[in-house]
This record gives sequence, structure tokens and C-alpha cells, in this order.
Amino acid sequence: MEFTLSDELSQLQETVRRFAREKVKPRAREIDESGDYPQDLFEDFAAASLLGLCIPEQYGGSGAGIMGLTIAIEEVAKYSSTAALMLLLTRLPTGPVMIAGSEEQKKRYLPGIADGTTRAAFGLSEPGAGSDVVGMRTRATPDAGEEGGYVLNGTKCWMSGVAQADWYTVFAKTGDPASRRHDSITAFIVDRSSPGLSVGSIDRKMGVRGVDTGELLLEDVHVPRENVVGEVGGFRLAMLGLNSMRPVVAARGIGLAEGALMYATEYVKTRSAFGGTIADFQGIQWEIAKMAVEIEAARLLTYRAAWLADEGKFTSEWVPHLSMAKYHATEVAVKASGLALQLLGAAGYMKDHPTELWYRDARQLTIVEGTSQVQLNLIGRGVLDHSLWWD
Ligand SMILES: Cc1cc2nc3c(=O)[nH]c(=O)nc-3n(C[C@H](O)[C@H](O)[C@H](O)COP(=O)(O)OP(=O)(O)OC[C@H]3O[C@@H](n4cnc5c(N)ncnc54)[C@H](O)[C@@H]3O)c2cc1C
Repeated sequence: MEFTLSDELSQLQETVRRFAREKVKPRAREIDESGDYPQDLFEDFAAASLLGLCIPEQYGGSGAGIMGLTIAIEEVAKYSSTAALMLLLTRLPTGPVMIAGSEEQKKRYLPGIADGTTRAAFGLSEPGAGSDVVGMRTRATPDAGEEGGYVLNGTKCWMSGVAQADWYTVFAKTGDPASRRHDSITAFIVDRSSPGLSVGSIDRKMGVRGVDTGELLLEDVHVPRENVVGEVGGFRLAMLGLNSMRPVVAARGIGLAEGALMYATEYVKTRSAFGGTIADFQGIQWEIAKMAVEIEAARLLTYRAAWLADEGKFTSEWVPHLSMAKYHATEVAVKASGLALQLLGAAGYMKDHPTELWYRDARQLTIVEGTSQVQLNLIGRGVLDHSLWWD
């Protein structure tokens, strides 16, 4: 058993830590206030070769894997959940392509993500189908024309990066839209320029502002046969993609929690009260200690999940290990941001400090890519069927 990062990963951590302090930290508040997409930061990510961390070298990336991306996101999320989401979006829509895409698809769609010339987004959720993915109504009917392929109709919603994306990984039903059969759902790559595709309304969010979240409208959008990702009827691919993403979302949680706790810890050491500082109180020290334990536990779960994902262990038997990283790390982010705000008192409630921003940003994490309740369902099922067992 080895608990230290490899030399390469340590170096990556050091580089991104410096990058985050110099480039991300000074921009976080302004991104939140303006809500504008931070194109300059995206270009900085590209220049620092951070957009291709999870993309294999043969497709223009650096091949650092899920672990490399996890380590990088942890550093960036200490200051900005929006910036961390920008990195996460290099994996969420490309995951299905890397897992089951054709060689043609990988060559065509991955290098642009790695060098920042293109962006992508992931469309699974619909207004009537969030946790209940199988309830989706977006339909893919075979195109009767000479070219063949499929025609997509439907509405995807809450899609992160919808306005900035050049292409989308979209899930649709090839069978009866009312069917709850898993084999009716298929993944498609849909180009932004496709006639009939448009970006609908953009959401007004409480946090993680700057990367737009909103609707993707599909009206008779023709998708060529070669843009089907994996098998027709490959719902399993949606789940494999999400399973392998658990450590990446978890990394946003641990980074945010670390940033918030470090900030509040430095603050309590300087805040005078009752003839000393508030850091002198054991009640305060215990809160800091308990949160430090939770962060380290979440961090270990997250790193293990990243390691599992890189080993290709994201099939159903590994789900409890992956889901518990996402569950715990994102819940810890909510708790840590709440504690940090409380430790600063009134100052923590004001926009002069980043605590209220962390607090708002953290709430997203227990909802996206499978809510905490959905993760608990998956972990519970895993224990019941002995995928996770200690005997
Ligand atoms: C900021 C943001 C960005 C997002 N980005 C994307 C994106 O890029 N692409 C995308 O496809 N989606 C995206 N989503 C959507 C996200 O994945 C869904 O919100 C999530 O899957 C939950 O679905 P829902 O919101 O419809 O909640 P619902 O499914 O309506 O759930 C509501 C509540 O019921 C609980 N619940 C539901 N089912 C169960 C159950 N079986 N057992 C116990 N409790 C249950 C949930 O935990 C939740 O608390 C984003 C969401 C947000 C907020």
C-alpha cells in the first residue's frame, strides 16, 4: 500500500497550486459578481496544458488520468468552484467517448478539448427527469432519408457549459419514450452547428456563476450514424460515465472544504475576543479538528476512487466505493463552508470575505451528477448485494 503521490503527481499538484493562487484566486469574486464566462481563465488553463489532463496522449492530452484531473481540481476549487467546473467539463462530456467511442470519434473530438480550441457539455437531465434518468423523453428516431442516422427531438436542461460548448454528448431514447427499459437509451455526439439545435433559457443560479447552465433545445436535429457513441441502447454507458466521474466531482468538494477551513482557521487566529483570540477557545479548536478529520477522510475516499477509475474499475461492483467519495466529499464541502461562515461571524456573511461564496457554491455539489440521496441508494444497494462487504 502506497499513500504518497508519485513524483509526477506531486509536481502537478505543486504547479496547479501555484497557478490557482496566481490566476484563480484573484478572479473568483469578480466571476461571481459579473456572472460572465471567464474566457481569460480558460485561455490560461489552455496555456498551462490543464485542459487535457484526463485525455490520453495519443489524442493530444497529457494522460494524467482521472487522478491527475482530481488533484488539479482540488487545488483550483480551493478558490473557485466555477474554475473547477471548467476543468471538470473536460471529462464529463468526453467520458462516454473515451469509454466507448470509436477511434474516429476520439480523433475528431478529443484533441480540441485538450488544447482548448473546442468545448463540450453533457446532456442527460430533462425538466421531467433528473434523478430518474430513465424517465427522459428526448427521442432519437431513425432518419428515413438516404443518409440514415437519427433525428433528435427534445429538451435537455440544467446543462453546465451549454452556452460555451461546441458539441454535446446527448442521451436520447431510440425506443418508445414512455419505455422504462434501459436498452432504449443511447448516447449521441451532437455538433453545435447542427440545424434545429439551439440553446434555450439560461438559468439564474445561486452559485457557480460564470459557467452558464441552461437548456438545450433539439428540434428535428439530424445526427449521423457515426455519432452514436458505443452501442445503440447503451444506457449502461451513461452510468459508466457518471461512475467514473465520482472522484472528479468529489475533488470539487474536498478543494472547496480545504479552502474554506484554511481561510477560517487563519481568521480565528487574528480575531480578538474576551482578552485573547477566538482560536484560543477549545470549542472553536474542536470544530476545526472535526472538520479536518472529515476533510482528510473525504480526501482518502476521493483519491482511492480516482485510482479505481484509472484502473478501469467503474463498473457496477465498484459503485459503492465511487459513490461514497462523491457523497462524503460534497457533504463535507457543505459542512465546511457553513462552519467557515460561522467562524467568521458577521464578517463571514458579508461579501468582503469569500465564505458566503463558498457557502452558495457548495450547495450545488450535493445535487449534481447524482444527489446525495441517489448516492446513498447506490451505496446501500452495494452493501446489500455484498459489492461492499468486509468479510
Ligand atoms: C448547477 C447545476 C448544474 C448541472 N449540470 C448538469 C449537466 O451539465 N448535465 C446534466 O445532465 N444535468 C445537470 N444538472 C442536473 C443534475 O444532474 C440534476 O439536478 C440531478 O440529477 C437531480 O435531479 P433533479 O434536480 O431533477 O432532482 P429530483 O430528481 O427531482 O430530486 C429531488 C429530490 O428528491 C430526491 N430523490 C429523488 N429520487 C430519490 C430516490 N430514489 N430516493 C431518495 N431521494 C430521491 C433527490 O435526492 C432530491 O433531493 C445540473 C444541476 C445543477 C443544479
